[in-house]
Amino acid sequence: MPVSKCKPLRGLREIYRIGMGPSSSHSMGPRRAAEIFRDGDGSGADSFRATLYGSLAATGKGHLSDVAVREAFEPKECKINWRPRTFLPDHPNGLKLEALDGDGKTTAAWTVFSTGGGELTDGNGIVGGGPVAEYPFRTMDELMQLCANEELPIWAVVERHERDLWSWLGEIWDTMQQCLRRGIDREGILPGPLKVKRHAPEKMSKALEMKGALREMGLISAYALAVIEENAAGGTIVTAPTCGSAGVVPGLLYYLQKHEGFERQMILQALATAGIVGALIKANASISGAEAGCQGEVGAASSMAAAAVAQLLGGSVPQVEYAAEMAMEHSLGMTCDPILGYVQIPCIERNAAGATRAYTCAGYALQGDGSHRISFDEVIETMRQTGEDMSADYRETSRAGLAALKK
Ligand code: SF4
Repeated sequence: MPVSKCKPLRGLREIYRIGMGPSSSHSMGPRRAAEIFRDGDGSGADSFRATLYGSLAATGKGHLSDVAVREAFEPKECKINWRPRTFLPDHPNGLKLEALDGDGKTTAAWTVFSTGGGELTDGNGIVGGGPVAEYPFRTMDELMQLCANEELPIWAVVERHERDLWSWLGEIWDTMQQCLRRGIDREGILPGPLKVKRHAPEKMSKALEMKGALREMGLISAYALAVIEENAAGGTIVTAPTCGSAGVVPGLLYYLQKHEGFERQMILQALATAGIVGALIKANASISGAEAGCQGEVGAASSMAAAAVAQLLGGSVPQVEYAAEMAMEHSLGMTCDPILGYVQIPCIERNAAGATRAYTCAGYALQGDGSHRISFDEVIETMRQTGEDMSADYRETSRAGLAALKK
């Protein structure tokens, strides 16, 4: 299934969304679709039927897709049909919602696709989402040229094109921090048959006993875990750019705010730069694990976080671009193979690894003048092609890789 090359650059509000975990494509998107249908064409229904196709069905149980859809239709009943081997032509995450009358006859139906990061599309294009930002560029090269011509940092270009940027990003950052603070103290076992233990509190206390680089990396890992464990528990989360990768950006930025003393406004500026990096990845490749594997989720999050940190640490625009490029270059080929379909293994540790990798990529980029051989735009096109070439077994279907270890 080709990953479209020609999607519009729609801005940061489609990268950072507040919602419920554990999956932006498999729970947040389907929940939103069901709510729209419930309040629209399906408003007079006696009951509902939802048919999940492709990746949405293959990993939907572990991602709590059925729970999200049923909850949206409550108190009315919803029957769920699973069609994991049927891939609809437009996207691997297809969902058909039907309103049923008292005799079980279909009175209205809607086929919709959950395309990653909580976004929905149907035959008419993107569903809802409100007004989007309009940017005069579509690539990182064009953005860098604009920055050079006008002597602006990346965040200042974003500021020009996003309405109420700082108050909205302030709400996003506050929600990220609330999630992290909930997760950092919470012990116990995450939902599901894998019985995965929450590790954030233990990692945090061990990191505080360490020194130097191990302490730094340990703290970053603990903060990333705190967020992503909350996500795995179905808590309130901010996509960055998805739920499954939501620990990387806040984990790293929280470390820099708390332990390196960066001020709030600088963190918001870093979020602005990370957001436009995510939007460029989304427009020119994909942030959907079902389309691009984990390159599109933790790979994209690492690229966003590396750009944010390079900027925070005083990097020039070329150094910021290099950091983002490098983090993605070394995520190329990363598959999506969650065990039993739960956003837990490998997802949770992968967020910690993605956050520490982003930090080292930012540092590496800052050791030079920003010049390098492969551009961000080239690596994003390579990521898109790699995702397209990847077997569907490795794109959020839990049919191969680590997922094959436990069936
Ligand atoms: S492996 Fe990566 S892409 Fe797949 S569900 Fe986990 S975080 Fe998302």
